[in-house]
Amino acid sequence: MSDNRIPVAVLGATGNVGQRFIQLLENHPWFRVAELVASERSAGKKFSEATVWRLGNDMPESVRDLVVQDYSADLQSALAFSGLPSEVAGEIETRLAANGLAVVSNTATHRIEPDVPLIIPEVNPEHLAAIKTQQENRGWKGFITTNSNCSVMHLVLTLKPLQDAFGLNKVMVTTLQAVSGAGYPGVPSLDMIDNVVPYIGSEEEKMETEAMKMLGGYDGGFQTADFVLSAHCNRVPVRDGHTECVSLELGAQPSPAEVIEAFEAFRALPQELELPSAPKRPVVVRYEDNRPQPQLDRDTERGMASVVGRVRPCPVLGLKYVLLGHNTIRGAAGAGILNAELLKAKGYLNA
Ligand code: NAP
Repeated sequence: MSDNRIPVAVLGATGNVGQRFIQLLENHPWFRVAELVASERSAGKKFSEATVWRLGNDMPESVRDLVVQDYSADLQSALAFSGLPSEVAGEIETRLAANGLAVVSNTATHRIEPDVPLIIPEVNPEHLAAIKTQQENRGWKGFITTNSNCSVMHLVLTLKPLQDAFGLNKVMVTTLQAVSGAGYPGVPSLDMIDNVVPYIGSEEEKMETEAMKMLGGYDGGFQTADFVLSAHCNRVPVRDGHTECVSLELGAQPSPAEVIEAFEAFRALPQELELPSAPKRPVVVRYEDNRPQPQLDRDTERGMASVVGRVRPCPVLGLKYVLLGHNTIRGAAGAGILNAELLKAKGYLNA
């Protein structure tokens, strides 16, 4: 592989999302992992000594000997992917952006700020225009872009074709979220086995506000989408893959067949640009009565698609369906990488 690839840093490299970044960036055609950052616990150690690798296959050879840096390091890379906990991300990401880096963040900290794009490339690529305002407002050479919370990511990916075709009025969503969404070690096993936990801190609020930002337009500022959304979020004993049961009232009254047609026809800018991580089909429809299921469907389109099924009438709101999406791939690291590919394709990366 040619090494004109852009050197990138991974922040929170030893964690769930950080390891996914490293796995997905192995052999990436445009980006090469050059720097790794984690907490003081890991700093100064080789990545292979600091990390218990929790994903399939081996830790990529190319990162084994990289020495983990701590949060105060002056990074040389032009681009940083962040999988930092929100308590520490604010300060670290701000410093790096001020120093000229493009920071592509998974963390909630900056998502709702009025000059920070919260991007799904298939949904709201026009929000990237806020980068210029952000740099002017803050006097930064670099910038921060964010991707959404893992459950709202998949919900919004499926709502977008419906919003475009029929309009959205009301959305009710109940999630069944995988344990890996809580980081490692996450929820204690004795709280999780044989159980469902009907609360995930701040998750319902994130779903409700982030969806409105991403599905609203941009006219020099972010507009709030004009529909209402209510979320119930539950943690269930599944390793990877969030399931969501959605009921909604659309502006028009399409049949389930017309809704399925809108899902299947959905293609957007990442598919047009053939970005390396873009799924060929962002929304994949399953027709079996008992799909999608996490075990069977979370890796559809390399974990980058939202899989929908059971599209049917709802006697309360008009229409309902079930969706499933991989939470650490399209819901986190894969989303960040697709955002960075869009930034490169649109000329936002100086490297
Ligand atoms: P995690 O497994 O707990 O990993 C946290 C990482 O941050 C570790 O690498 C840890 O390093 C590092 N870290 C902790 N404190 C630090 C500090 N002071 N300075 C530098 N590095 C520090 O968490 P995660 O699940 O990967 O989540 C990371 C972020 O992504 C969170 O903001 C989360 O909300 C978001 N997110 C997660 C998911 C998901 O499905 N898991 C989805 C979307 C978004 P050490 O190993 O050295 O402690």
